[in-house]
Amino acid sequence: MPVLKSFIAGEWLGESPAQALPSAINGETVAHTHEEQIDFAKALSYGRKAGKKLLDMDFQERALALKAMALYIQEHKKELYALSMHTGSTKADNGIDIDGGFGTLFSYASMGRRELPSGNVLHEGPVTPLGKNNHFAGTHILVPRGGVAVHINAFNFPVWGMLEKFAPTFLAGMPCIVKPATSTSYVTEAAVRLMQESGALPEGALQLVIGRTGNLLDLLEEQDLVTFTGSASTALKLRSNANLMARSVPFNAEADSLNSAILAPDVKPEHEEFDIFAKEVAREMVAKAGQKCTAIRRVFVHQSQVDALCEKLKERLGKIRVGDPGVEGVRMGALASMDQLKDVRASINELLKTSECVIGKNESFRPEGPGTENGAFIEPHLLLCRTPEKDGGAHDIEAFGPVATVMPYETIEQAVEYAAKGRGSLVTTLTTRDPEVAARMIPALAPYHGRLQLLDAEAAKESTGHGSPLPMLKHGGPGRAGGGEELGGIRAVHHYLQRTAIQGSPNMLAAITGEYVRGAQLKEYDVHPFRRHFEDLQINESLLTHRRTVTEADIVNFGCLSGDHFYMHFDDLAARESQFGKRIAHGYFVLSAAAGLFVSPAPGPVLANYGLETLRFIEPVAPGDTIQARLTCKRKIDQGRTSPDGHPQGVVVWDVQVHNQEGVMVASYDILTLVAKKPE
Ligand code: NDP
Repeated sequence: MPVLKSFIAGEWLGESPAQALPSAINGETVAHTHEEQIDFAKALSYGRKAGKKLLDMDFQERALALKAMALYIQEHKKELYALSMHTGSTKADNGIDIDGGFGTLFSYASMGRRELPSGNVLHEGPVTPLGKNNHFAGTHILVPRGGVAVHINAFNFPVWGMLEKFAPTFLAGMPCIVKPATSTSYVTEAAVRLMQESGALPEGALQLVIGRTGNLLDLLEEQDLVTFTGSASTALKLRSNANLMARSVPFNAEADSLNSAILAPDVKPEHEEFDIFAKEVAREMVAKAGQKCTAIRRVFVHQSQVDALCEKLKERLGKIRVGDPGVEGVRMGALASMDQLKDVRASINELLKTSECVIGKNESFRPEGPGTENGAFIEPHLLLCRTPEKDGGAHDIEAFGPVATVMPYETIEQAVEYAAKGRGSLVTTLTTRDPEVAARMIPALAPYHGRLQLLDAEAAKESTGHGSPLPMLKHGGPGRAGGGEELGGIRAVHHYLQRTAIQGSPNMLAAITGEYVRGAQLKEYDVHPFRRHFEDLQINESLLTHRRTVTEADIVNFGCLSGDHFYMHFDDLAARESQFGKRIAHGYFVLSAAAGLFVSPAPGPVLANYGLETLRFIEPVAPGDTIQARLTCKRKIDQGRTSPDGHPQGVVVWDVQVHNQEGVMVASYDILTLVAKKPE
C-alpha cells in the first residue's frame, strides 16, 4: 500500500508507513500516512522566501498559471475519480468535488484576468481630494500579505476544499500550506501531484501536510493567516491558539451548520413547486451521503402540509439505492469513514429524543456491492419533530450524513424564527410562488445566513442547487457556521491582501497605484497617444484636444440621427421652464463630439473601443458653448492576449474629461480600448 508523502520545501517527504487509511467502501487499506516528522519551521521559512518569488509574477500572470493548472487537472481527472471512489463518493459526488475543484480554478483564472490589474498593487478607488486645491488626496491600495496562508480542510471535499482556497490565495500572490483531513488525504495528495506535474505551479506556492500540523500554528507570525473548514469544536480550539491571538493572525472559519429549507404556506401539493421542493430536499440529503456543510438538515413546512410532504419525501428517499458507487444504479455511496458512521448513528439517536422516525432505522438495510458489509454505509433518515419552538434537538445537533428533520410552523414569522434557531447557517432555500412572501422573508432570514436560494418553478429550470457554493457568490455564514467568508468572486482574493489607506499628492498616488490620478503631472508629447503602441504608452500621458463650439444645428442633426427628440433639446418653451432654463445638447452628443475631438482616425495601434465606465454628465452644454476634451492614459492591463488574427495586445483605460469655455467640467468618464503591442 502506498505511503502518502507531504510536499514540504519543494520536496516529497515520507517513506515509512504510519496510520492506515481504510476505504469507506470495503474497509481495505487505501494508503498510509507517513511516519517522518515535518519540520514546520523549515516549511514556513521556505514558504516566506518562495512567496517573495511569487511576486515576480503579477496578478495577470498568476491568473494564466491557474488556468494552466485547471486544464491539467481536467485532463487527468479520471485518476482522481478512481481514488475518490474509496472516500465513498459516487460519480455525481466526484463531479462536485473534482470537477467543482478545477472549475473553481478556471473561474478564478478568468475573474483574475477580467478584474485584476497588471502588477501587484490593486487600487481600490475612488481617490478622495483631502485639500481645497487638489494637492493632497487619499485612496486605498491592496497588496499581497507578506506571510504564508495555512489552509486546514475537511474530509468531505479533498479536492474542491483545497482548490477553492488555493485559487484566491495564489491569485493574491500568497504561498500556502495545505493540510487536508487525514482520512481522505490520499485524494488531495494526488491532486497536488497533478498540480506540480502541470509545470504551472511556481516553486513554493503550495506545500502539503499529510497528518497533523504539529507546532505549525505556534510558529505563525503577523503576516500569516489561517483558514479552517471542519467542526465548530475544532474551529474554536484552533482559533483560541495563544500565538494566533497574540499576533492577531486572521482566522477564517467555515464550520458545520444547520441549514434549512422552507416551504412557504402559499405552496400546495398540487403546485409544481411542491415537487420541486421535495426533490431538492431529497437530493441534498443523499448527495455526498449528506456530508456537505451546506446540506439541508431542517425542513420547515406549514403544519397543514406536514403529512403530504413526509409522504412525498418517503417515496423519493425509499427509491434511493445505497452501496458501492461502482454498482450500476447506486445513487448514494458511503460516509467517509467508520468513525463518521459511528458519529452519525449517535447523532440520530440524540435527534430521536425530540423527534420520530419517518424513514430510516431500517434493520434490514444492506448496502449493495461486494465487501460493503465492511464499509461506512447508512440509509437516508428522515425525522419529524413536532416541537420546533423548543431550542436544541434538530436546531442544535448536526448529523453529518443523509439525515434531515421536518418541522411544522404556523406563521411565516415562526418559520423565520425557527430557521434562526440554528444560530447562523451557510444557506437556506425558500420555496414560494409569491414574490411578496419572498420580499418579506428574505430580509428577515438574511442576518442568519451566508446565502439564500429562492426556488420556484422558473428558477428550478436553471438552479445550480441549494448545496453548491459558487465561485462568484460568497460562501460562509454567521455564528455557528463559523462567521467566515470564502469565495464571492474577487472578494476572496482581497482576504489575502492587506488593505492600506494612502494619503499624499496626486503625483505620489499615481506612482504608487500605477494609475493616473487627477491632479498628477501630465506627460504631453508631439505624437498622438493613439499612435503609440501598448509598451510605449505611459501612465499620465495626455492629449489636450482642439475646441469645438456646439450649435443648434448639432442638436437638430443629432436628434434626427438618433431619433432622440426629448423636450429638453427640442421644445424651447418647456426647456425654459426646466431646471436648466434653456435648450441643451444631448449628453450623448457631447460624448460623440468628444470622441471626434480626441481620436486619431488613421489605422493604428489603438484597435478598438470596447466600453465606457463611470460616465457622469456634470454640467449642461448649450448652443454657443465651446467644449474641449482631455484624454489621459489612466491604466494599462497586460492580459497576455492576442487579437483573433494573432497580434498581441493589451487593455488601455483612458480618463476623459470634457470642459467648457469657462474651464468647467461638463462630462467625465473612462473609455476602455484594446491597443496593439509592437510588432516583434
Ligand atoms: P474536524 O474539525 O475534526 O477536522 C477538520 C480539519 O481539522 C481536519 O483537517 C483535521 O485534521 C483538522 N484538525 C483537527 N484537529 C486539529 C488540531 N488540533 N490541529 C490542527 N488541525 C486539526 O472535523 P472532522 O473532519 O473530524 O469532522 C467532524 C465533524 O465536523 C463532522 O462530523 C461534521 O459535523 C463537521 N464537518 C463540517 C464540515 C464543513 O464543511 N463545515 C466539513 C466536515 C466536517 P485530521 O483529519 O488530521 O484530524
